Amino acid sequence: MTLAELEGFLAERGLPKYRAKQIFGWAYGQLAESYDAMRTLPAALRERLAVELPFVPYTTAREVRLAEPEGETVKALFETPDARHVEAVLMFYPDRVTACISCQVGCPIRCTFCATGLGGLERNLTTGEMVAQVVALARRARAAGRALTNVVMMGMGEPLANYEPTMKMIGILNEGAGLGFGARRVTVSTAGVVPNIDRLAAEPYQVNLAVSLHAPTDDLRTALVPLNRRWPVAELLDACRRYVGKTGRRVTFEYILIDGMNDAPELAEELARQLRGLLCHVNLIPCNPTPAGPFQPPSHAAIERFAGILRDAGIATTVRWSRGVTIAAACGQLRAEHEGGAGRPIRPARRTPAAAAAAV
Ligand code: SF4
Repeated sequence: MTLAELEGFLAERGLPKYRAKQIFGWAYGQLAESYDAMRTLPAALRERLAVELPFVPYTTAREVRLAEPEGETVKALFETPDARHVEAVLMFYPDRVTACISCQVGCPIRCTFCATGLGGLERNLTTGEMVAQVVALARRARAAGRALTNVVMMGMGEPLANYEPTMKMIGILNEGAGLGFGARRVTVSTAGVVPNIDRLAAEPYQVNLAVSLHAPTDDLRTALVPLNRRWPVAELLDACRRYVGKTGRRVTFEYILIDGMNDAPELAEELARQLRGLLCHVNLIPCNPTPAGPFQPPSHAAIERFAGILRDAGIATTVRWSRGVTIAAACGQLRAEHEGGAGRPIRPARRTPAAAAAAV
């Protein structure tokens, strides 16, 4: 619930409005794990809320940790009451702590290099299920003596295909009585749901937009991101230009580099041509091999060559080495491992790319 919804919920029960801010303060500011901890609420109210407005009942199915040169990475696999699995990752850096959360169980986009995409969409997550991931990781950061500073929606799912719950989550994180998490510290990632990029540009929240591009030509991009059939590269980049024009904010393009697939120098040149004049930044991400896929990262030299071509063309470019390769931290890998065991198996992709696009 947003703060206003919670105030309404309390008012309907004859309870004072100011309790809503207290509850937000405890649940999000103090990261209380239950109503029992909310000491400024009367005991009778705490008991009533525990029944009428329970906390999202996630359990942690698995947690894996990896010490990396820049800081620790923690990956959590949450289990929902309907026995679905949701991945979230917490990354500690010297200057920030970033939570990467999921917005859907599975994903309708079916990118061919992605373990989550292999299984298709099972269901959308609710606003509460997304907020609960942030809160769980904020508690985990606090236990390590740190505070969460950034949230990126780059886990399982396509945020712009679960639009309203995602926007509502951003509003709840933003609420000053709770986490007070500035929208500028939230990044929404999309594979290119063009109409909702336009909607996002009109929202009051100043979130960051990351677009998973992965290829500059339609043939190649459709092979990697089937959604490209519906909104091809030119339409997607036009939407990004409208977004920049309306918000004045830079767009980040994510480009997963796959050996022998999309790492050729000519493709870097084409990408530079396509992005010329657009306020943007390119993040090159050498791919994580998925258990079910043939994809491998390019050589270091090929990555540097690709990055160099973009930089020479005046495009701000960084290479982001994936975190948590050995703990299956790439999207969908931990879930695939977990469900490939005793749980629900990951199904092979059955839908055509056009059907995947139609599902969005
Ligand atoms: S890479 Fe992202 S958009 Fe593509 S299938 Fe995986 S979760 Fe979905």
